Order: sequence, then C-alpha cells, then structure tokens
Amino acid sequence: MSRVIIVGAGPSGIAAASRLIQNGFDVTIFEAENRIGGRICSFQMGEYTADLGAEWVHGEKDNVAFELAWPLGLLERAYENKEFNSSGIFVGSDGEIISEQVAAPLLKLLENISDTVGDVVGTLKTGSVGEYAEIKINEYFKSHPEISADKHKPLMESLNSAQMTMDGAKNWHEVSAKGFKDYADCEGDQLINWKHRTYSTILDILMKKYPNPKEELPIRSKTKLNSKISRIDYSKSPIKVTTINGENFFADHIIVTPSIAVLQKNHETLFTPALTGKKLNAIMNLALGRIAKILVYYENPWWIGEPFWFRHLYWTSEDKKEIENDPQRRWMLGLTSSMRIEHRPKMMVFWVTGCYVHEMESIDEKLFQEQVKQVINKFFGKTHKLSEPKIIKRSLWNTNENFLGTQSFRPVKADLVDAHIEDYAAPIEVNNKPTILFAGEATSLHYSTVHGAIESGWREADRLINYYK
Ligand SMILES: Cc1cc2nc3c(=O)[nH]c(=O)nc-3n(C[C@H](O)[C@H](O)[C@H](O)COP(=O)(O)OP(=O)(O)OC[C@H]3O[C@@H](n4cnc5c(N)ncnc54)[C@H](O)[C@@H]3O)c2cc1C
Repeated sequence: MSRVIIVGAGPSGIAAASRLIQNGFDVTIFEAENRIGGRICSFQMGEYTADLGAEWVHGEKDNVAFELAWPLGLLERAYENKEFNSSGIFVGSDGEIISEQVAAPLLKLLENISDTVGDVVGTLKTGSVGEYAEIKINEYFKSHPEISADKHKPLMESLNSAQMTMDGAKNWHEVSAKGFKDYADCEGDQLINWKHRTYSTILDILMKKYPNPKEELPIRSKTKLNSKISRIDYSKSPIKVTTINGENFFADHIIVTPSIAVLQKNHETLFTPALTGKKLNAIMNLALGRIAKILVYYENPWWIGEPFWFRHLYWTSEDKKEIENDPQRRWMLGLTSSMRIEHRPKMMVFWVTGCYVHEMESIDEKLFQEQVKQVINKFFGKTHKLSEPKIIKRSLWNTNENFLGTQSFRPVKADLVDAHIEDYAAPIEVNNKPTILFAGEATSLHYSTVHGAIESGWREADRLINYYK
C-alpha cells in the first residue's frame, strides 16, 4: 500500500486525506498546530460559536464547499436572512457620518471597479488594481461636488482598505489587475453563511463525521498534532520527513499544504534537494495577504434597531497625523470597517487591513483590549450611547509562524516575473513518479478560499489515485 504523508491539516490537507483514505492509501497527516482546520478556526464567544478565520461560502457555481453543504440544508444565502441588509455608511474618526445616499454609490463604484478592471489591463501603466481604482474614483469625485474636497483623500483611503478586506495586500497598488481578469469567480451569492454553525462544519463533512457520525473516516486518528515538519528529503526513496523534534518518518509521496508565505520563508531548509526554476519563481512571487478580525461581543449591543449592516471607517487627516507616528496606536489606521454577524445579534466584527495588521497583532493584550474600547468610542461615541463590550478577541494569523498571513493574492510583481499558479501546483516528479505534490488554496484558480483549498486537496489525491491506476 502506498504511503502518503500530508503536511498540514487545513481544509486542503483534510480533503486530500479523506479521498486517499477512501481509495485505500496509507495516510498520515502532520499538523504543526494543536488542532486541525488551519485557517478555518471556530471558537466559543458568549452564547455563540464564531469564526476567527474563514466564515462565508463565496459563490455557488463550481464551488465545492457549496456543493457539499447546500444539499444538507446548512447554508443560508445573504438575502435569505431577514436581518441582513447590504446598507452601509462611512463613519469618520471624528464621529461624522457620511450618509447611505453618498456611501451606496461609492461602494457600488468599488464593486464595479473590481468587475471591470480585468477589461482594461492592457491600458494600465503599472498593471495594478489601484491605478484603475484611483482614476475611476477621482472621476467620480469630480462629477459629485456634494462630496466636499476635504473628504476625498480619507474616502479614497477607506475604499482602498475596504478592497483590501478581500485581497489582503498592503494596498491596491500591490494587487495585479491581470489577477482579477484571470480569477475564477464562482457565480452566485458571495456571502453565504452557516446559520448558527461555523465554517468548521465543512471539516466534519469532509471527514464524513457529518451527517452520520458512524461513517466518520479515521482522519483524526491519522493526524499527528503539534508535529511541525522541518525537513523533507526526497533525494532518495523512500522520502524522509523530519519533525522539529527530530523524529523521522518515511513515505512514497508527500502532499505539501502550508501557506505560500510559510513556504517562502522556509523552503531552503524544508526541501532537499532545493526547489528551483518555475516552481521556486511561482512560490516566491505570488503572495499571501494579511487581514485580521477583531470580534466583539456585547451583552447589550448598542446598534440594535439601526438599519446598517456595514460601517466603513475613515480617518480624518488630523487624526491620522496624530497617530501615525505613535507605534502603540498606529495599527488603528488599519481599522477598515465594522460589520454585524448573521445569527449573532450581539456580535460585531471589525476588520483590520493593510500594513497595520502585523502591528495590531503585536500589541500587548491588556493594552489592546483598552485600545479597542477607545477606538470604538472615538468612532461611535458621539452618535451612540455605547455599552461596554464583554469579550474582545483578535485573530493572530499573521504573526503565527504556521500561517504568516491569511489569503493569497496575485501581486503586480508576479506579472513582471511570469509567476504562475500552475507552476506552483505542478508536482515534483522523480523517475516519472509524482513525489512532492503541492496543494493549498494558493495552488488553486479559486485561490484565497476554502473551496479552492478543498479542490486542491482533491486534485492532488486524484493525481496519486490516477498514477496507481
Ligand atoms: C481571517 C480569514 C478570513 C477568511 N475568510 C474566508 C471566507 O469567508 N471564505 C473563504 O472561502 N475563505 C476565507 N478565508 C481563506 C481560507 O480560510 C483559506 O483559503 C483556507 O482555509 C486555506 O486552507 P489550506 O488548507 O490551503 O491552508 P491552511 O488552512 O493554512 O492549512 C495549512 C496547515 O498547515 C499547517 N502547517 C504549516 N506549516 C507546517 C509544517 N511545517 N508542518 C506541519 N504543518 C504545518 C498549518 O498549521 C495549517 O493548519 C479566510 C482566511 C482568514 C485567515
């Protein structure tokens, strides 16, 4: 029986394992963390379970996560949720509100920019999404004198940050317009939620624990937690895999799933022989973005009765000047928006994007808790009678050595050096045998998503199944 070692128990690793086990392979998964799930991570917050990582199923058509969960009645489209609405406003750091009438067309314009930037790739000097976005938004400001000139810069920055909630780059000048053109969007609702459940339910479906626990595949028992792989030596057969504790394991094939940022940092010590050529070019020049969530739970939410689901935040030039040189508070400039959470009326999520994410994660916990209260007060204190948050929890994906980021994107530099997902996804063959295989969201044309990760795990499992046919 062929032995396969899978590095990483995120959705791509679990998907690969489930398919291989069902096809008779001898599988062991090594996971660096003390839990399975990777960038799917659910936890208890007050009376709810909540997601610190992936949360929504983005799209329906050709979306394997949707195809697995929808027939089981587990999902809800955004517009099927009675409370959800797409309305939003802009709120300034001085508490000023820019009404929905002004906000809605600007947000629509941003959506339109994402949809059309792929059509104008050839006309852009830099090839970045930001170049096109700034042209279109400045044109809009010119023809809308009701938006005063002093708001142009803060609003432009706020729209840039809002876009980065999706891409995770430092800013939109880093993001390739060609990437938008080639991206394999799944048609349909983009904000499909898991009702009272969380995205970790998909792991149970993949492991066949749900809907019938009696059919559960032995994936957990074949997973070694707290087992970080530090070396994969494929210079001889069988392949030797070494953990950071110095234990050696042997296999015929390895499926590598850690995030692209983890590979960028560790590839030189991880692989023997070293990665080279197109493979290395792709890994080094595609990118992992960085976003963060701050989840806030209230016993008595202060927004009840308000129609807005989204509040886009902007910093006034004065406030920005005041805090940008303060290393303790500078992260606040990355606060992008707040959003209510489906089926969790007492919770709100704040998104942090751009170059400030790392700083936010590095602030001392006690200070951070105080700062969150202060910043909520700054934006909303003038217009609301605020209540005290009961629980504040931030994600720490970017400073965690096992992730070093959140979701991949195509940067402009990838266009310049011809870096391609297909080169990253291609297996390393030794004597015509697929020996080192690469899965993970960043190897999929549906990159940056859970469905892309699952698809990539299945793709590599199928590669091995077909090899032995
Ligand atoms: C905040 C946030 C919000 C998101 N929102 C959404 C969303 O709403 N919808 C959506 O579809 N997607 C979303 N995503 C993206 C989605 O979570 C990822 O694309 C997907 O989970 C990636 O799965 P993966 O298996 O490729 O990688 P991972 O989940 O990162 O799994 C890789 C695993 O490898 C492990 N590992 C790393 N190095 C080693 C090593 N040396 N040895 C052993 N193990 C190792 C890691 O610990 C990890 O568990 C979000 C991500 C984040 C962080």
